[in-house]
Amino acid sequence: MRQHQTQPLKNSSVLSLVIVTVLFSLVVDDQPIASAKSSGIWHRVRKGDTVWDIARKYKVPHNAILKANQIQSEKRIHIGKKLFIPGGLPEHKYGTWYRVKHGDTLSRIAVNHGIPVSNLVWRNRLKSADYLQANQKIFIPNLHPSNFAPPMRIKLVLTSGYGYRRHPILKKRMFHYGLDFRARKGTRVYASKSGKVIRSGWRSGYGNYVLIKHAEGFETLYGHLYIIRVKNKQHVKQGQIIALSGNTGRSTGPHLHFEIRKNGKNVNPIHYLNLRQ
Ligand SMILES: [Zn+2]
Repeated sequence: MRQHQTQPLKNSSVLSLVIVTVLFSLVVDDQPIASAKSSGIWHRVRKGDTVWDIARKYKVPHNAILKANQIQSEKRIHIGKKLFIPGGLPEHKYGTWYRVKHGDTLSRIAVNHGIPVSNLVWRNRLKSADYLQANQKIFIPNLHPSNFAPPMRIKLVLTSGYGYRRHPILKKRMFHYGLDFRARKGTRVYASKSGKVIRSGWRSGYGNYVLIKHAEGFETLYGHLYIIRVKNKQHVKQGQIIALSGNTGRSTGPHLHFEIRKNGKNVNPIHYLNLRQ
């Protein structure tokens, strides 16, 4: 009994030692705490930059930047200061830009880059695959090796992206941790990748939702569902129906809210979803 009681005390003193060490190295190296723990990039503050601007640019929560850099007052970020952006990635890692030449067609560009036309149309929000203008810049995404499939088989129309937005119901600036896809109530929702259902049910905000755990520390979440078709702890295959979409929870209209998390942190699903058809 006694041993069991002393164990947590030891652990907490070890923990505080670790914290002290981390804080100490922070002071000495001038390296923010997060650089040792999580991935991200450095941003050098430019004239006119605010933390909000930087948060929007890299699509990471404002608080995460403040915390990672131990910023007490936002007024004290000076031009030239290097800020660590936890979870931030330079855009070229996600793909490359291509400048359209005379005579190019989208299908030729797609074939040359080994990517489906639908993916280019979707990622570049093109109205049609037929109309390209010379000098237009097209983003060619790198297909993600993790192979997440679209959670619905209808044409995916993004109604809200990942990052800061003014919340349509709460009317304040909030970070949106997923993608919203337009979907009529009752649209079939499929597991984006094989895995195991680890949570499902009701939560204010999400309404009816399903959370699936996948390999490599990934999770996917599906929110505002109408009917859930899976149970907790159930194994699901990629492409298996897990629910019907709806309008439950904090939602202004029928749609699917879709999140991808990696090691417990939200990532922008747009960089992971591979549209193959
Ligand atoms: Zn949403």
